[in-house]
Amino acid sequence: MVSLTLNNLRFMKKIGMLLLVFIGMVSCKNEIKKPTVTSIVLIDSTQVRNHLYTLASDEMQGRRAGTIGIERAAQYIETEFERLGLSIYDTLSSYRQTFTFKNRRTQEEIVSSNIIGVLEGKGKKEEVVIISAHYDHLGIRSKEGVLDSIYNGANDDASGVTGILALAEHFKKVGNERTLVFAAFTAEEMGLIGSTHFGKGIDASKFVAGINLEMIGKTPSFGPNTAWLTGFERSDFGKIIQKNLVGTGYQLFPDPYKKFNLFFRSDNASLARLGVPSHTFSTTPIDVDKDYHQVSDEVETLDIAVITQTIQAVAVGTQSIISGEDTPTRVVLEERKK
Ligand SMILES: [Zn+2]
Repeated sequence: MVSLTLNNLRFMKKIGMLLLVFIGMVSCKNEIKKPTVTSIVLIDSTQVRNHLYTLASDEMQGRRAGTIGIERAAQYIETEFERLGLSIYDTLSSYRQTFTFKNRRTQEEIVSSNIIGVLEGKGKKEEVVIISAHYDHLGIRSKEGVLDSIYNGANDDASGVTGILALAEHFKKVGNERTLVFAAFTAEEMGLIGSTHFGKGIDASKFVAGINLEMIGKTPSFGPNTAWLTGFERSDFGKIIQKNLVGTGYQLFPDPYKKFNLFFRSDNASLARLGVPSHTFSTTPIDVDKDYHQVSDEVETLDIAVITQTIQAVAVGTQSIISGEDTPTRVVLEERKK
């Protein structure tokens, strides 16, 4: 087979474009069908459900860092990474980045692991996009007279981990130009411990974007087919996503809960502090959410369709970043007053 010259390529591209316009005109005549995030990227909602129900099951005992419950969740994520054929990150010898830390509140020494898998980029493998969510939650808290004391953390953040597993499966299928690092962080609830530890070991200049998923299981106050992004004004990451979602019926809004300071309250902050345009996607109306950090954060309160559509929207919205066409501006944090 001969290789294509540049001119040939340009010619074929033109023909291709004309063909697309023609097909577009014909199909418009018959029926106006708008694309949706579902028609662009199909994520299997049954699998979304399976991931979610497994991670939020009572067997995982609320996934508190340092417990047998979170260990079961770690094993589930590892098994999924293995099934998808993800590679090992950097100098690690497995999907685990294990470390010891001291819980600031209880002073106990805890050994825990971030679970990290990689899809190496085809064209721009030195440039990394990290896709993350925390897999830990609050564990079991015994209160007298309360039967269910397992904090299942279905929305917070089994929904987000479900997202990274589904996105890993999606990008494994469709391919990626930039390298994708999928990270399930531990001990977020104890103070962004896992992501901070991860951040210490990286060359941040190689990380072109951070996509963090947090509580994506409930319909936002903006209505169905929407999500919001923390730190929207801190880089042009959000604008790139909005551009890519135009015409899909799915919309991304800036975080409407400024007073909650959410940009610094999830794992995206650990990388944003290093300059990485790293933001958190969420759908939850956190100002009125009765289940946030409550024992009632159960799978029954979540909408599988919302999770599935949001994962699809994240895939569609970040596509030009993952392909290397767009590179968001770096995050510059205001200097702290001394
Ligand atoms: Zn969370």
